[in-house]
Parts: sequence; structure tokens; C-alpha cells
Amino acid sequence: MSAVGEHWTVQVDKALRGRNDQFAADNRAHFRTAGVFVLNIVSSPGAGKTLLLERTLAALREELRIGVQVGDLQTDNDARRLSGHGASVVQIVTNGCCHLEAGMVAKALESQPLGELDLLIIENVGNLVCPASYDLGEDMRIVLVSVTEGEDKPLKYPTIFRNAQLVVITKLDLVGPAGVDLQLLRENVRRAAPQAHLFELSARTGEGLMDWYAYLRRARSGQAGAS
Ligand code: MG
Ligand code: ZN
Repeated sequence: MSAVGEHWTVQVDKALRGRNDQFAADNRAHFRTAGVFVLNIVSSPGAGKTLLLERTLAALREELRIGVQVGDLQTDNDARRLSGHGASVVQIVTNGCCHLEAGMVAKALESQPLGELDLLIIENVGNLVCPASYDLGEDMRIVLVSVTEGEDKPLKYPTIFRNAQLVVITKLDLVGPAGVDLQLLRENVRRAAPQAHLFELSARTGEGLMDWYAYLRRARSGQAGAS
């Protein structure tokens, strides 16, 4: 583990993989004890996770103490983008592993004391397949799907949608240029994730962000599910 600029970096090695369910249970117990609400954000690469997090950190920094763990195969580019917003940021470099595991989150917590946080946001590696199989100990799994990915993503990757508490359609500003049928995308999300809340927003223009922040505040204060 090393500190670079304003964030920490954890390099994944063998010891941080495996025994996922045990690590996830331990993480969850620690989160509960500390009263930290935890989000696991998953999506394809390029769906807009990091931009949405940048906006969220800037908007909520005065009211919540936020920690971020961001997983990538290589580079600490995302941690660099996210640092400077008053949050504690840890980059997990997975060295080729295409998902985060609970042991990696536990390791990152060594440089992120839970007693100093209200909300922990974990940005998973961009991948709609195997992150579905790895509980990290989170309270809520959020799937982002951008309008530029087309209407049928939820039907092609049903497992990750089925396990989500929340689905966020991103890049609303690109509906026109992408020529996407937004209504069809909504219907496909509903079909794949009938249990989930659905948000639509554009982190670029700000459309829908107020509702997103309000939802996070309610979720954090234990009123998740209240829409
Ligand atoms: Mg990212
Ligand atoms: Zn994987």
C-alpha cells in the first residue's frame, strides 16, 4: 500500500483473493458496528461511474463524511480524479482481476478508518459479469447503465440487474445523439430488475442529480426503500 498525492493505492496480490463470503461477512459486521452505509457501484467500462462520483462528492461533502474505494485493472487515474473533493480515496489496482473481492475491500479499509466515515462508496471494476458474484459486504448494489450502451444491456446481463437495489440510467444528455429508445431501455431495466429503484440522470448537465442526492441521504439515514 502506498500514498500518492491525496489518495492511497492498494495493489492486489494473491492473498487478497478467495474466501469471499467470509471477508464479506466480516466487512458487513464492521460497517454495521461503525454505522457506515456502503454502496457497491457496478457498470460496464465507461458508463459514467467516476463522473457521477465526482459530482456526488462535491455535492455532499459538507454533510457527509465520504470514503471512496475505486477498483481498476491498472492505473490510479480514477483516484486522481476523485481526490481533492474532501473524501478519503483509495485506489485498488487489481492487476488484471476483472472484479473486486471482499478481501480487497478489507485491505483498503486499513487506510480508511471506518470511524471517520458516514458513507463508503465502492466503485467496482467496469464489468457487468463477475462483480455480480462477489458480495463485498455492501448495503446496496447499484448498477449504472448509460444510454450509449443501447437498449438491451439489461437483457444481456440479467444477473447483475437482478441483484441490484438501484439502477441508474446515465448520460441522459446523449439520448438524442445516441439515437436510443429511452422508453425501451426503461422497460428492459424494469424487466431485468423489477425489484430495483430506477433513476435517470446526466452527471454532465446535472439533470436528475438532486433526486439522486436525496435518495442517498434517505438511504444513509436508514430510509432506503422510501422513494
Ligand atoms: Mg471509473
Ligand atoms: Zn472478474
